[in-house]
Amino acid sequence: MKKSVYLLQPTYRKMDGTLVKGLPIFNYAINMPIISACIPNDWEKEICIEYFDEVNLETDASVVIMMSPGYDLAHAVTLAQEFKRRGKFIIFGSHTDELSDRLMREICDVVYYGYPQPTTIAELLNDIRIGLFQPEYRWKFGIDFAFDYSVFNNHDIPFIPVMASTGCKNDCSYCCYPPVFGGRYRLRHIERVIDDLRAVQKFNKPISFLDGNLFNNREYLLRLCNAIADSKLKIRWGGQATIDIAEDGEILSALKKARCRLLLFGLETLEPENSAQLHKEMYPVQKFESQINKIQQAGIRAGAYFIFGLDSDTKNTFNKVRDFIHRTNVAVPYLHVLVPIAGTAIYHQLRNEGRLLAENFEDYLQQNPEFSVPCSFAYFRPKSMTALEVEEEYLRLNSHVYRLDRIIARSISVSIRDMWAFLQLNLEARSKYKAMVRGYQLRKSRHHQSAKNESAKNEIATTTA
Ligand code: SF4
Repeated sequence: MKKSVYLLQPTYRKMDGTLVKGLPIFNYAINMPIISACIPNDWEKEICIEYFDEVNLETDASVVIMMSPGYDLAHAVTLAQEFKRRGKFIIFGSHTDELSDRLMREICDVVYYGYPQPTTIAELLNDIRIGLFQPEYRWKFGIDFAFDYSVFNNHDIPFIPVMASTGCKNDCSYCCYPPVFGGRYRLRHIERVIDDLRAVQKFNKPISFLDGNLFNNREYLLRLCNAIADSKLKIRWGGQATIDIAEDGEILSALKKARCRLLLFGLETLEPENSAQLHKEMYPVQKFESQINKIQQAGIRAGAYFIFGLDSDTKNTFNKVRDFIHRTNVAVPYLHVLVPIAGTAIYHQLRNEGRLLAENFEDYLQQNPEFSVPCSFAYFRPKSMTALEVEEEYLRLNSHVYRLDRIIARSISVSIRDMWAFLQLNLEARSKYKAMVRGYQLRKSRHHQSAKNESAKNEIATTTA
């Protein structure tokens, strides 16, 4: 067996069937620097980040390592089948949901869980070479080694991904972290993170910490911020944290000194009654506005995620969120209809209550091929509204929030480069909204057409009778 490996980060398809090219901001591009750093020196490696590169199905590598695209897996499945037909040995990993697991296990020779390490990948490749491999490898969640950022050379990536930790201490019911990490997290050594920041500084792009929650461990975050400030690195960065960070003045000032420009918060709802359903009672919604204000007054812009279709949502919920976004002037708002991901607590709740309209995500994608960004569609029965009402109110809210004048108003910043970054984030969210509207109209016209066909059939049947 040739000691050569093909590393593939696949892309996914848009609603019109074309492949997503040019890396969208929130894709899991961090997987490639991680896996590339793990390949032993005596193995050749060929790298394909499909957002930029064409897949080389004719590669002479003997082993293909594929990473989850994180979204629509159908295209990754097709690629895996093509490589399989060409006799390649296929490894699939870095996935976090039950669907990826089921689909890829059917095709791939080996599936791994957790994060790869240089030692575990060396062992795995050796097992394959001597023909003594297992179909499944379970690894820990530590990633305490320097990543290989040379994989991004020659690619125009808008935001460079880095990571200081894996996992999260919380167990939010809608998040795919708790089933995987079980409320635990692992921190990287701060020197490793600083090494990575030094490596990515040359790209001269904003840096995005992909950690699920930078505020998992206060002391660690404080040390990390101080180390970044002391390193004199000329970087600008953002990340995600829980909103209670607003109550910690020392941390906010350390973040500012460390050149943190944007923090994103999963607020998810402004209805207090929804907190229990989300497992987020520890973050009272009544405090959100003053907390966002504190963060922005400390010189760090805030972004906010919201989920719709929760049990206590009514039409008024959408207006509340619209007004909240305007009043707080968050730099980037992200709006989603609830997607009950298989394996999460909210998925099990809706399933047990008989409220899922599609039993699993695969059925959902098959029934709704026009939605490659499925967060505009309720495939469950909401409690206080109909699914159609949720979808229509959701699109109406998007049309307010992503108006160009509003995007410009909230992106304004003293720094032109920050303003440009906020604009990019908002414009990407706006283009997703536009795509959702097109998908929504497509679905409506298909339903209309199939209703017409049905009535024509009935008419013919009546006439014949
Ligand atoms: S805080 Fe964020 S990352 Fe952590 S469980 Fe909740 S949603 Fe997931």
